[in-house]
Amino acid sequence: MARYTGADCKLCRREKMKLFLKGSKCESAKCAIEIRPYPPGEHGRGRPKDTEYLLQLREKQKTRRVYGVLEKQFRNYYEEANKKAGKTGENLLQILESRLDNVVYRAGFAQSRDAARQQVRHGHVLVNGKKVDIPSYRVREHDIVEIREKSRNLLPYEVARAQFGDKQVPAWLGVVPDKMRILIHQLPVRQQIDTQVQEQLIVELYSK
Ligand code: SF4
Repeated sequence: MARYTGADCKLCRREKMKLFLKGSKCESAKCAIEIRPYPPGEHGRGRPKDTEYLLQLREKQKTRRVYGVLEKQFRNYYEEANKKAGKTGENLLQILESRLDNVVYRAGFAQSRDAARQQVRHGHVLVNGKKVDIPSYRVREHDIVEIREKSRNLLPYEVARAQFGDKQVPAWLGVVPDKMRILIHQLPVRQQIDTQVQEQLIVELYSK
């Protein structure tokens, strides 16, 4: 499966903001954007004109990178969001948030979405009692996501249990830490999604 294999921190520097792709490093003084707060590359410190198109493009790229989604899949999500009732941008964010890897990350069971993706791919995650090893699997209201019993003593989960409460879990999810279980109360509305993105710019870009 195609995926981005370059340096994650370069993505943050390109977007000129923290995208929180590297777990605890993102909160430390080693965060690359704290050290080099300008885009990577020879012309990184130049000042390209912020055209309307550039702003829209950057917003789309930023969102893709936060959720770790490749262009084609992102475009498919947009098409799906556009067909649904309601605001396309908000639908798009809801689709991205309902990915299984995102849910595992949001619940605090993984330090980053990348780590959550790996957990899912390695078969540690069950949805409604059945193993699901597809990170892009989309949860639905009232689903129950849990870490399978024989994986619960692995180090990342022991760390997650010990740190439970340090990270705020969004209200659309309920977490039962001792059972390593996540209850999907509902799919999130825009106010419950703290991703710093102006989704309207993405809609404008794709609707040209
Ligand atoms: Fe981004 Fe985290 Fe790297 Fe900082 S440490 S640049 S927030 S991925």
